[in-house]
Amino acid sequence: MSTVSIHPSVDNGIAAGSEQFTGGTLSCHCAQGKVAVKVDAQTAHNHACGCSKCWKPEGATFAVIAVVSRDKVSVTANGDKLSVVDDKATIQRHACKGCGVHMFGRIENKDHPFYGLDFVHTELSSESGWSAPTFAAFVSSIIETGTPPSQMTAVRARLRELGLEPYDCLSPTLMDAISTHVAKAKGVLKS
Ligand SMILES: [Zn+2]
Ligand SMILES: [Zn+2]
Repeated sequence: MSTVSIHPSVDNGIAAGSEQFTGGTLSCHCAQGKVAVKVDAQTAHNHACGCSKCWKPEGATFAVIAVVSRDKVSVTANGDKLSVVDDKATIQRHACKGCGVHMFGRIENKDHPFYGLDFVHTELSSESGWSAPTFAAFVSSIIETGTPPSQMTAVRARLRELGLEPYDCLSPTLMDAISTHVAKAKGVLKS
């Protein structure tokens, strides 16, 4: 079981977040002229993500990604090195042109259920206390980036062992939030 690698920040156990934590600075992987992004709040909904679009470090099977209010995210150094990976994607991932690291993902569609939230990788920060990952999303999608289907049972078992309940979409909490937004937009659900 221990041969299954999920992500370097969780493979040796998951550090708990701190209630008092109020944010930190994310830095890209460039040796010089690092892009810095200040996150002025604790993150929420941190999770492992198996989709093919989230940035992950070399060798990792999953990305680890959290959300934070977009008004708490600001580029504080070398913002000229950032460019959007795919401007047609729902989440506009702002990546460093030098090292390829995604510094933040932003939704510009005001009708999207998650509008107002940015997606960040807190492993890019040297501070500790960020919210810990609590589930794994889009687990089946790792097959699309090369994990053999025969390994999926072991991967899901390892995720459960780490306390990261595996889901093949988002977690029930987030799927319910999306459907609630849609129901309100349709008028099916009042208030
Ligand atoms: Zn960089
Ligand atoms: Zn993802």
